[in-house]
Amino acid sequence: MKIRNIILPLTGIAAVSCSNVEESRPNIIYVFPDQFRISSLAFWDSPEYEGAVNWKADPVHTPNLDGFADEALVLNSAVSTCPLSSPHRGMLLTGMYPERNGVTLNCMALRPESTLRPEATCISDVLDQAGYFCGYIGKLHAETPMKNNPDNPGHFVSDRTPEWDAYTPPERRHGFRYWYSYGTFDVHKNPHYWDTDGIRHDPHEYSVKHETDRAIAFLRNENGERDAGKPFFLMLAYNPPHSPYESLEDCMEEDFNLYKDMDYRSLYVRDNADTTLTKAPSARYYFANVTGVDREFGRLLAELERLGLDKNTIVIFTSDHGETMCSQGTYDPKNSIYTESYCVPFMIRYPGKIRHRIDSTMLSTTDIMPTLLGMAGLYDRIPDSVEGHDLSPVFLEDGRECTVPDATLYIRNLDGKKNPDGTVHGIFPGARGIRTDRYTMEISITRDYCIDRVMIFDDWNDPYQMRNIPYGENPELFRELCGILDRKLEESNDIWYRENILEKLLEDLNSTIQ
Ligand code: CA
Repeated sequence: MKIRNIILPLTGIAAVSCSNVEESRPNIIYVFPDQFRISSLAFWDSPEYEGAVNWKADPVHTPNLDGFADEALVLNSAVSTCPLSSPHRGMLLTGMYPERNGVTLNCMALRPESTLRPEATCISDVLDQAGYFCGYIGKLHAETPMKNNPDNPGHFVSDRTPEWDAYTPPERRHGFRYWYSYGTFDVHKNPHYWDTDGIRHDPHEYSVKHETDRAIAFLRNENGERDAGKPFFLMLAYNPPHSPYESLEDCMEEDFNLYKDMDYRSLYVRDNADTTLTKAPSARYYFANVTGVDREFGRLLAELERLGLDKNTIVIFTSDHGETMCSQGTYDPKNSIYTESYCVPFMIRYPGKIRHRIDSTMLSTTDIMPTLLGMAGLYDRIPDSVEGHDLSPVFLEDGRECTVPDATLYIRNLDGKKNPDGTVHGIFPGARGIRTDRYTMEISITRDYCIDRVMIFDDWNDPYQMRNIPYGENPELFRELCGILDRKLEESNDIWYRENILEKLLEDLNSTIQ
């Protein structure tokens, strides 16, 4: 059965950018598991790809993602600007930096100020206006938990203290007309969701499978999930391979079986991994979830093809940030500039429009929204509020002009002042940094705005970032990188720029790096 009809522009506005006969708009499927690191893709060690990165692939089983990569544009230098769940999602949805979109910190009840501004224009607002039907499945985690439990008005969605999870009522869904989502909740085999009508579902099965079933139903339009007369935009936000990853409670046994007989230490191939950390045995469960995501993503792609929708659908696979998994001796999986946390997989398949290749464009999180709109031919509709850049001309090779970034900004914000009741007011902008095509630099500060630490890594010669180059050892390099950071801070109107934080730090340092 052929479900897809020829899509005609539904409004006059949709057609104004093109003088020729309007082609039907592509569907867009955006799949982003949580905490899926770039090296957890087996293809990086295969002949075509191994020269594109200078680190080893994790010993993972990802046959579907490997096959997808062979049909996609594969980025090796995409980053998560603020590699933490909520700030990433705020930037992804709006193309704006955290201070403007409102999501400055990981959303939870004690951080009421960190929430997606209701008036911020999201990609789904734009696509809805442009005649798309938008659906969201899975983890949202972009707004503060509110006392809006639909089953129990005036109460949070659960009795957890502090509450992290959230229900999103229809008026805050930003153009998503199909809804099957939650805020954040980390029990992979007992997930829950609120649907379009606000009804809660507790399916008692592996969340990645369940959400893929829902996505397949959306593609098939099994229960009238979408308006079949419109192109669709579907965001599919899996939670795994996010923690917990400690037992068979957290993953599927069939996936774990691929790794269970391996000494967990043999799963660590990065020179900077410390397998003495108590977290180290987790790798088998983390990789099992990587494989679980791979299997379900493959099932989604197969259904897309079976329905004949694959040719006119842009499919993206990425993640909100990476996972350190015992690298750099840290237990914190994210929120750092280390490659394992900051760099993310990013693959785009658009048959006939984007040719398969490996591309080193340094894509930042704020670039994703305008670039998706550009790929859909809607570059005239990119809102003025967007602060990232439409890089679609690079990917489409369509001859339009486009400035290719020479570096990416890194942001780490921490809680600001705490009120007596424990709620957080404001942010403390703990660190800023950049990554160029060769170097990574991060400057972190103490609470009294002095230098805490400077880290500089030569990613060409030190792919596992094991030698921090002291800034006094190569002052010219340090000044050059600070110059790029200063420009990036200004471009993004960052608090470090507005309050002259970098400038003051460099004045203090000047005497020490003559
Ligand atoms: Ca996350």
